[in-house]
Amino acid sequence: MSYKKTLSLLVVLVFAVACSTNPFTGKKTLALVPNSQILPMAFQQYDQFLKEHKVINNTPDARMIKNVGQKIARASERYLTANGYAGYLKNYRWEYNLVQDDAVNAWCMPGGKIVFYTGILPVTQNEAGVAAVMGHEVAHALANHGQQRMSAAQLQQLGAVAGNLALAKDPENQQLFNQYYGVGTQVGVMLPFSRSNETEADKIGLTLMAIAGYDPMVAADLWQRMKQQGGGAPPEFLSTHPSSDTRIRNIKSWAASAKAEARKYGVTSFQK
Ligand SMILES: [Zn+2]
Repeated sequence: MSYKKTLSLLVVLVFAVACSTNPFTGKKTLALVPNSQILPMAFQQYDQFLKEHKVINNTPDARMIKNVGQKIARASERYLTANGYAGYLKNYRWEYNLVQDDAVNAWCMPGGKIVFYTGILPVTQNEAGVAAVMGHEVAHALANHGQQRMSAAQLQQLGAVAGNLALAKDPENQQLFNQYYGVGTQVGVMLPFSRSNETEADKIGLTLMAIAGYDPMVAADLWQRMKQQGGGAPPEFLSTHPSSDTRIRNIKSWAASAKAEARKYGVTSFQK
């Protein structure tokens, strides 16, 4: 068998054993780097990040972030359990922190590790706006979008190193992790998610915020405000989350079904 054939066969084998299912879409996704490896890295990075930044505690804003976070986490658990994925979040260690930083940004690392920067609060404006961003970021984590990007990068490396099928060693994994889950100050700028990942996160995020009791239409207004933040130097969040008319249109068209989904969980009023 030729060397190339051997390589592609092995790649197929790796694919076959290294997929996980996205509980929201039922689609198989690439998972060369298992969560058992990713989550400990995430937890370590998160703790490190908190050590190096000013975490705000016990202010009304900090309490709001935690409160919304708990509601989105609870909504995620209810949704996953109702859809046959009980236990999907068993390795999650939810945490929600507000950090003093003017950057217009927020993120959720694998395992439910969330950071909001104070700089995004003027754009989110209120609790429902925070829920829109939180729902979206948590959706990326739940759908393992970072894991897919990291796996895709490993696959590329696999090709590049021509036949060295050993998965990247720990320090390399660490570097890939930083790049693909990015926490800004680490290896550099976080690489953007693909457009399809963004669309998926928008859709899942709307459902989560609706189940948590927030009006999903708020997300459309949020992205509109986000869009107006553009200009000379677009904020960090916008560099990975371009806000377009298509995005806003999609959100408006999905809002009703997100509410309908939430009603299945007994949610009847939606905070704006
Ligand atoms: Zn996103």
